[in-house]
Amino acid sequence: MSLRPEIHFSSVFDHCSLNNNFQCFQGNPLNRLNLHRKSLQDIVQHSQSRFLPYRQLKVLFNQEKKQPVWLTHQFLFDNNNNEHKLTVDQCELVLLGISSQSMVDRSSVATSEPTKIDSETLSKFFLASEPAPDEYIYFALSVPPSFADKLPGTYMDLRPLLPQLSVIDAAVCGQGRALLDWHESNQYCGKCGSPTISLEGGTRRKCTKCNHTLYPRTDPVAITLVIHSDKEHILLGRKPSFPPSMYTCLAGFIEPGESIPEACSREVWEESGVVVNTNQTHYFDSQPWPFLGGQLMIGCYAYATDETITLHDSELEDCRWFSRNEIADMIQRSRNINLDKNDQNLRIPPPIAIAHQLIYNWYSKI
Ligand SMILES: [Zn+2]
Repeated sequence: MSLRPEIHFSSVFDHCSLNNNFQCFQGNPLNRLNLHRKSLQDIVQHSQSRFLPYRQLKVLFNQEKKQPVWLTHQFLFDNNNNEHKLTVDQCELVLLGISSQSMVDRSSVATSEPTKIDSETLSKFFLASEPAPDEYIYFALSVPPSFADKLPGTYMDLRPLLPQLSVIDAAVCGQGRALLDWHESNQYCGKCGSPTISLEGGTRRKCTKCNHTLYPRTDPVAITLVIHSDKEHILLGRKPSFPPSMYTCLAGFIEPGESIPEACSREVWEESGVVVNTNQTHYFDSQPWPFLGGQLMIGCYAYATDETITLHDSELEDCRWFSRNEIADMIQRSRNINLDKNDQNLRIPPPIAIAHQLIYNWYSKI
């Protein structure tokens, strides 16, 4: 298990560009444990609670400060006039966890605030059930549309917002979005169709009739960079829906009963016709991806044993072997945050995508 209690305020785009082994949406500093076992009502009203509003999964953002808008209980629930009073019951509320107040109050903190992971930190991290004086309890909530416009800030789609976010803001906003999306999609029981209710700070839902319990899901996706037997070419493809000239690694959901290497091999063959050695699939890193229902991208390298390209299914409109020289130019273009969307030159996804990191890592090390 890897704990990352650092509070990291550098731009997630820059951090991913500089750290090949760091993926956007990693680095979440919140302690998610224990608190949810207490009464949610008590925690919500705690003076050290802070709330991040969403409207239809768009996050409330302060464009001047370039950070998400965290509000107090008083601001959200106590301070509005009776006619338009917002109540906790009107919102879908999820507990994110405890962390340093500097996540919100940033005026006095440096770019990053690393915390050494020693036994004392570990035990505090695991056992905390109350925030320390310098910590807040963090929540995300879906605000009803009638109230949403009264809050200070602009609701933004998380994905296009990423280049403006810091490492921790990306991770925490992603956690909130993924959880709220799951709650929105699981209002009714999958077994009997009755309404479900949120329990334990939004860590589960329960059917009001048959007691069936639902837990937040994460769908594993294998994303594979296939390396040619000459070691000097890699296989990239593009779907018709991609921005013009963008090519990336091949990816697909891991199916029930499949191991990661088996999923990599099957997806690569289905999409490109290339055969890889299932016994030689190497794990690179993984990336929480809080879109499309909540996924975990599992990045792997695979090695081709038959390089002939045949597009078996209709997922890709093109698939090619790219040389190291071509890749050098494509990496450079993808790191230009001001690149014109209609630029016709070939490129790969930006550094905030694990596909970029897989490709860059191959280019620079393998
Ligand atoms: Zn049910």
